[in-house]
Amino acid sequence: GVQGAEAVLAGLDEQQRAAAAAVRGPVCILAGAGTGKTRTITHRIAYGVHAGVYVPEQVLAVTFTARAAGELRGRLSALGVGGVQARTFHAAAMRQLRYFAPRVLGGPMPELVENKLRVVAGAATRHRLTTDRASLRDLAGEIEWAKTTLATPDEYPARARAAGREAPFEAAAVAAVYASYEQAKQREGALDFEDLLLVTAYALEEHRDVAQEVRGQYRHFVVDEYQDVNPLQQRLLDAWLGGRAELCVVGDPHQTIYSFTGADPDYLLGFADRYPDAEVVKLERDYRSTPEVVGLANRLIGMAPRRTGLPGLRLLGQRAAGPEPRFVEHPDEPTEAAAVAAMCRALVDSGLPAAEIAVLFRINAQSQVYESALADLGVPYVLKGGERFFERPEVREAVLLLRGAAAGRDDGGPLVPAVRDVLASVGWVEHRPPPGGAARDRWQSLSALVDLAVDLVAEQPDLTLAGFVAHLAERANAQHAPTVQGVTLASMHAAKGLEWDAVFVVGLVDGVVPIAQSLARPAAVEEERRLLYVAVTRAREQLTLSWSLSRQPGGKRSRPRSRFLDGLAPDTAEQRARARRSPARRAEVQLDGAAGERFERLRAWRAATASAASVPAYVVLNDATLQAIAESRPASLTELSALPGIGAR
Ligand code: ATP
Ligand code: MG
Repeated sequence: GVQGAEAVLAGLDEQQRAAAAAVRGPVCILAGAGTGKTRTITHRIAYGVHAGVYVPEQVLAVTFTARAAGELRGRLSALGVGGVQARTFHAAAMRQLRYFAPRVLGGPMPELVENKLRVVAGAATRHRLTTDRASLRDLAGEIEWAKTTLATPDEYPARARAAGREAPFEAAAVAAVYASYEQAKQREGALDFEDLLLVTAYALEEHRDVAQEVRGQYRHFVVDEYQDVNPLQQRLLDAWLGGRAELCVVGDPHQTIYSFTGADPDYLLGFADRYPDAEVVKLERDYRSTPEVVGLANRLIGMAPRRTGLPGLRLLGQRAAGPEPRFVEHPDEPTEAAAVAAMCRALVDSGLPAAEIAVLFRINAQSQVYESALADLGVPYVLKGGERFFERPEVREAVLLLRGAAAGRDDGGPLVPAVRDVLASVGWVEHRPPPGGAARDRWQSLSALVDLAVDLVAEQPDLTLAGFVAHLAERANAQHAPTVQGVTLASMHAAKGLEWDAVFVVGLVDGVVPIAQSLARPAAVEEERRLLYVAVTRAREQLTLSWSLSRQPGGKRSRPRSRFLDGLAPDTAEQRARARRSPARRAEVQLDGAAGERFERLRAWRAATASAASVPAYVVLNDATLQAIAESRPASLTELSALPGIGAR
């Protein structure tokens, strides 16, 4: 009712409330990390439902990962709202297509391509290309990019050239492989992930009855992380909308981390042009992180070369002061991992739940060394927050057994002991994680099922085993994994939208962050900077950034610290020594025209703000530089050094 609706708005600040209360018509929230975008859309939906404007089942909220969809549903249910469809683009498309496949495709839902690289390899062989795993992956990446940007094989070469793509083969060869890949899939009657979206959009565009049904079902649309929407997803979204404007998008252009695979932040930035009557809301207050973390995030993104048209999105920390972010250098990777594991252990021993800690890395291959370091110290961990949870063999087996037990019982007896009994029959023992990778993973999955039962019973005391099994089926269908207790090990990409009390961002060496493949292209390096911005803004309180000088113990200590840390972290002993040796590091000033007086002012300003941070190696003081300084008013030498015309030579 109305009272419920008002209570929902009470949890928001004034700007957030303006967005949440605009339940009809186009709304766009453009704001930085931790400012409450996801919270605002959640409250907006809850408000719309409580105010009687939305029927929950008619709201489709699109999120970026299954985990984010699960979180959104969780937050909604805490606000007393159930039934809203919160899904990824893929999950939403899959569900619709499964229903419409007989009508649109003349048969049941096709299978998904099981091993994409195998199909790509077959296509490459047809064109006599010699490939290895890396070039196959690149080829698959090119095909994916072409499909998400809606380029046909014929269009690929020109589009790839315009976008500055780098493929392992000539564009014509890539296009030929792309065409063969499509044919091979068609012969097998299989779809890949992009096809799911394409075919669903096609069904809506070409089948009037399908469109009518889907558009009747879904009347209000919300898209989180809209900065990373790609043309293919936008096409599907447009097909869903069918010209209506019942759309709310939220995003942060500084968190665009998928432009390499086709995402385009211009959909977000151009929203107000597309919908001139849109309510556009900017949020600045960061509710997630301490001012220390916020400050670091601001400095990191402030050092990016300015992109025209990008609105200034500085964050204003709202929380009480916390510990300074820590920067730690290690001799080698195992030492770094052991140190991170020891800090996790200490945090857990001091009472922080392991689920409130995350270790974030750039490439999945880095996770192994952290897995073993955490296991050595007996710290429970989960990889990527338990995606594909319901596909794990132990979970499938447990669900089957639970279903069997539910069928054999009459709808009586408390749930939690019943679940424990069933799991005990497959060797699960409470409170005793077995040592070793696979056995431990298995134990954790099964424990997550018990924890879920405990949580559910707290809300619904008379939940039966059959009810629990039905709940599991629903979650499996929505790919909504239960929370697995443990330190999260995740890639920076997978961490988007999430938050933890303590975050360790590891492996910060040049060639990893930014990743080696990006170094030749400035735009790609900038995407890596945004990725690091995403990673550091996940921390509520404690943030530790670390790197190691060599990969192996005893190896040559030759890996330079990530360039993004220059100006954020204190200079290393090595850098200070180099600065003393090289006169080029000393500030050197070239004056042009009558800038002498202004230079005096600059020098005074510089003296006032000088800190331990690195000193710009040179300042070219012409009118353009002064203009840039006047415009952006750098608050530190670090920010000054990042301006064009000023920097390390
Ligand atoms: P990201 O860009 O990383 O996805 P976001 O803008 O979606 O961030 P949220 O996850 O919605 O931010 O919010 C960040 C944190 O701040 C959450 O813990 C949220 O509950 C809290 N928060 C947001 N707004 C408020 C508010 N008005 N009052 C109290 N807490 C808030
Ligand atoms: Mg969010």
